[in-house]
Amino acid sequence: MSVEAPDSLPRLATAEVIAVGSELLTPFRTDTNSLFLTARLNEIGVVVRRKSIVGDSPTDLAGAIGEALARVDLLVVCGGLGPTDDDLTRETVAEVLGRSLHEDSDILQQLRERFEARGWTMPENNRRQACVPDGAVVLENPRGTAPGLWLEAGGRVVVLLPGPPRELEPMFADLARGRLAERVSDERLYRRVVRVAGRGESHVEELAQPVYAAWRHGDPAIDTTILASPGSVELHLSTRVATAPEATIVLDRATAQLAVVLGDHVVSTDGRTLSEVVGDSLRRHGHRVAVGESCTGGLVSAALVDTPGSSRYVVAGFVAYSNETKRSVLGVGAALLAEHGAVSEPVALAMAEGARRAADVEIGVGVTGIAGPGGGTAEKPVGTVCIAVVAPDGGRTVRTLQLPGDRAMIRQMATRTTVDLLRRVLARMETHEAVRGD
Ligand code: ATP
Repeated sequence: MSVEAPDSLPRLATAEVIAVGSELLTPFRTDTNSLFLTARLNEIGVVVRRKSIVGDSPTDLAGAIGEALARVDLLVVCGGLGPTDDDLTRETVAEVLGRSLHEDSDILQQLRERFEARGWTMPENNRRQACVPDGAVVLENPRGTAPGLWLEAGGRVVVLLPGPPRELEPMFADLARGRLAERVSDERLYRRVVRVAGRGESHVEELAQPVYAAWRHGDPAIDTTILASPGSVELHLSTRVATAPEATIVLDRATAQLAVVLGDHVVSTDGRTLSEVVGDSLRRHGHRVAVGESCTGGLVSAALVDTPGSSRYVVAGFVAYSNETKRSVLGVGAALLAEHGAVSEPVALAMAEGARRAADVEIGVGVTGIAGPGGGTAEKPVGTVCIAVVAPDGGRTVRTLQLPGDRAMIRQMATRTTVDLLRRVLARMETHEAVRGD
C-alpha cells in the first residue's frame, strides 16, 4: 500500500467506532469488532471517545456519522458493505459527505475474477461492492468480496471496513501499520493497572478520587477508570506520551501517590494479580503453603494454583466440608468444634494449623463459613466466614467476615479475602525482615 506524504495533514488523535448491522442489536450477535479496533487504536495512541451500534437504517446511520464527525478526527465504520439491499454503509457515507458514487473498474474486475476462480458467475448485485465514493482510497480485502474504503473529509478521516472479523482484523492491522500510522502523532497510550483488595469500590473511589481528579488536567494528563468485581477493585490509569521511559516516570509517580492513600490495600501497581503477588512472595522466601477449606470448597487452593509455577509453593489443599473430615484429616479437636461451632475463629485457626501439619509446610491457611442460603443463625448469619493464616514462625492471624450477597458471591469474596489475608501476612513478614535487616 502506498502512503502519501502526510506532513501537512492534521494528526488523528481521537476516534469513534460505529458498528453497523441490525443483527448486532439482537441478543444473538455481539459487536466484537469495536473491542478489536479500540485495542489497535489505543496501541497507536488514538483515544476512542465513543462506540455505537446502528441497525440497517440509512437515517440512523447518517445521523450517527454526522454526529461522530463533529466530535472526533477518525471515524471507523464497520459492516454493511455487502452486496445486499440492507448493506447501506457505502451509500450513506457518500451521502453524508456529499460525494457521488462511481463504479471502480479495478474492483469490478477483481470481483469477477474472484467468482470465476470458483467457477461461478458474479451475481449482478455484487456490482454494488465496486461502487466507490469520489475521492476514496480502496483498501484491499484479501479474505472477502467487500473492499474497505478510506475517505478524507475536512481534516477528518472516515474508514469503512467489512463486518466479518476475519476480514476486518487483518485489514485494520495493515492500516495501523501503514496509512494510519503515518497520520497519528508520535504519542502512544500507556496504561497501568493498580489492583486493590479489602476495600469496596466506593471506599476506593473516596480515597483515590482527590488524587486522580488532579491528574485529568495535568501535563501530561492521566485518565483513570475504576473496574470493580466482588472482592476486588482495579484502577486503570492511562496517559498519552511520546516514549515508554517518559510513561514509566509519569505512571510511577501517579501510582506512588495512590499507594500513599490506599496503603496496604494495594495489591500491585504493575498489573500482577493477587495470586501472582502471593506466589512471588512465597517463592522469594522459599515458603510453601497448604490450605484447609470448608465453605470455599477448593476455591482458595484453585486461586493459589492459578499462577503457572505454583507447584513450587502450593503443596496441598484439603476440602474438609464435614466436621468428621475436619477432625480426621485436619485434626480439629472434637471439643473445639463442640464448644465454638464449625464456623468460628478457633476452628479456622485449627484448620490452618492442621493443613500446615498434615502437609508439613511453613504456612497454613484455614477457611470456614456459612455460604447459605440455609444454615444461618441470629448469632452467625449467612455470610459469616472465619479465615486464618498460620505463619512460618507460628504467628496466628484470624478474621471473621460478614459477607453480603448470595452463595456464589459469598464463596467468591471469602476466597479473595483469604488469599488477600495471606498476602498481608507475607507483606508484614517482609516488613519485619527489612526492619531486622534479614
Ligand atoms: P460481507 O459482505 O463480507 O458480509 P459486510 O460488511 O456486509 O461484509 P455484514 O453483513 O455487516 O458485513 O456482517 C457480516 C457478518 O460479520 C455478520 O453476520 C457478523 O457475523 C459479522 N459481524 C458484523 N459486524 C460485526 C461486529 N461489529 N462484531 C462482530 N462481528 C460482526
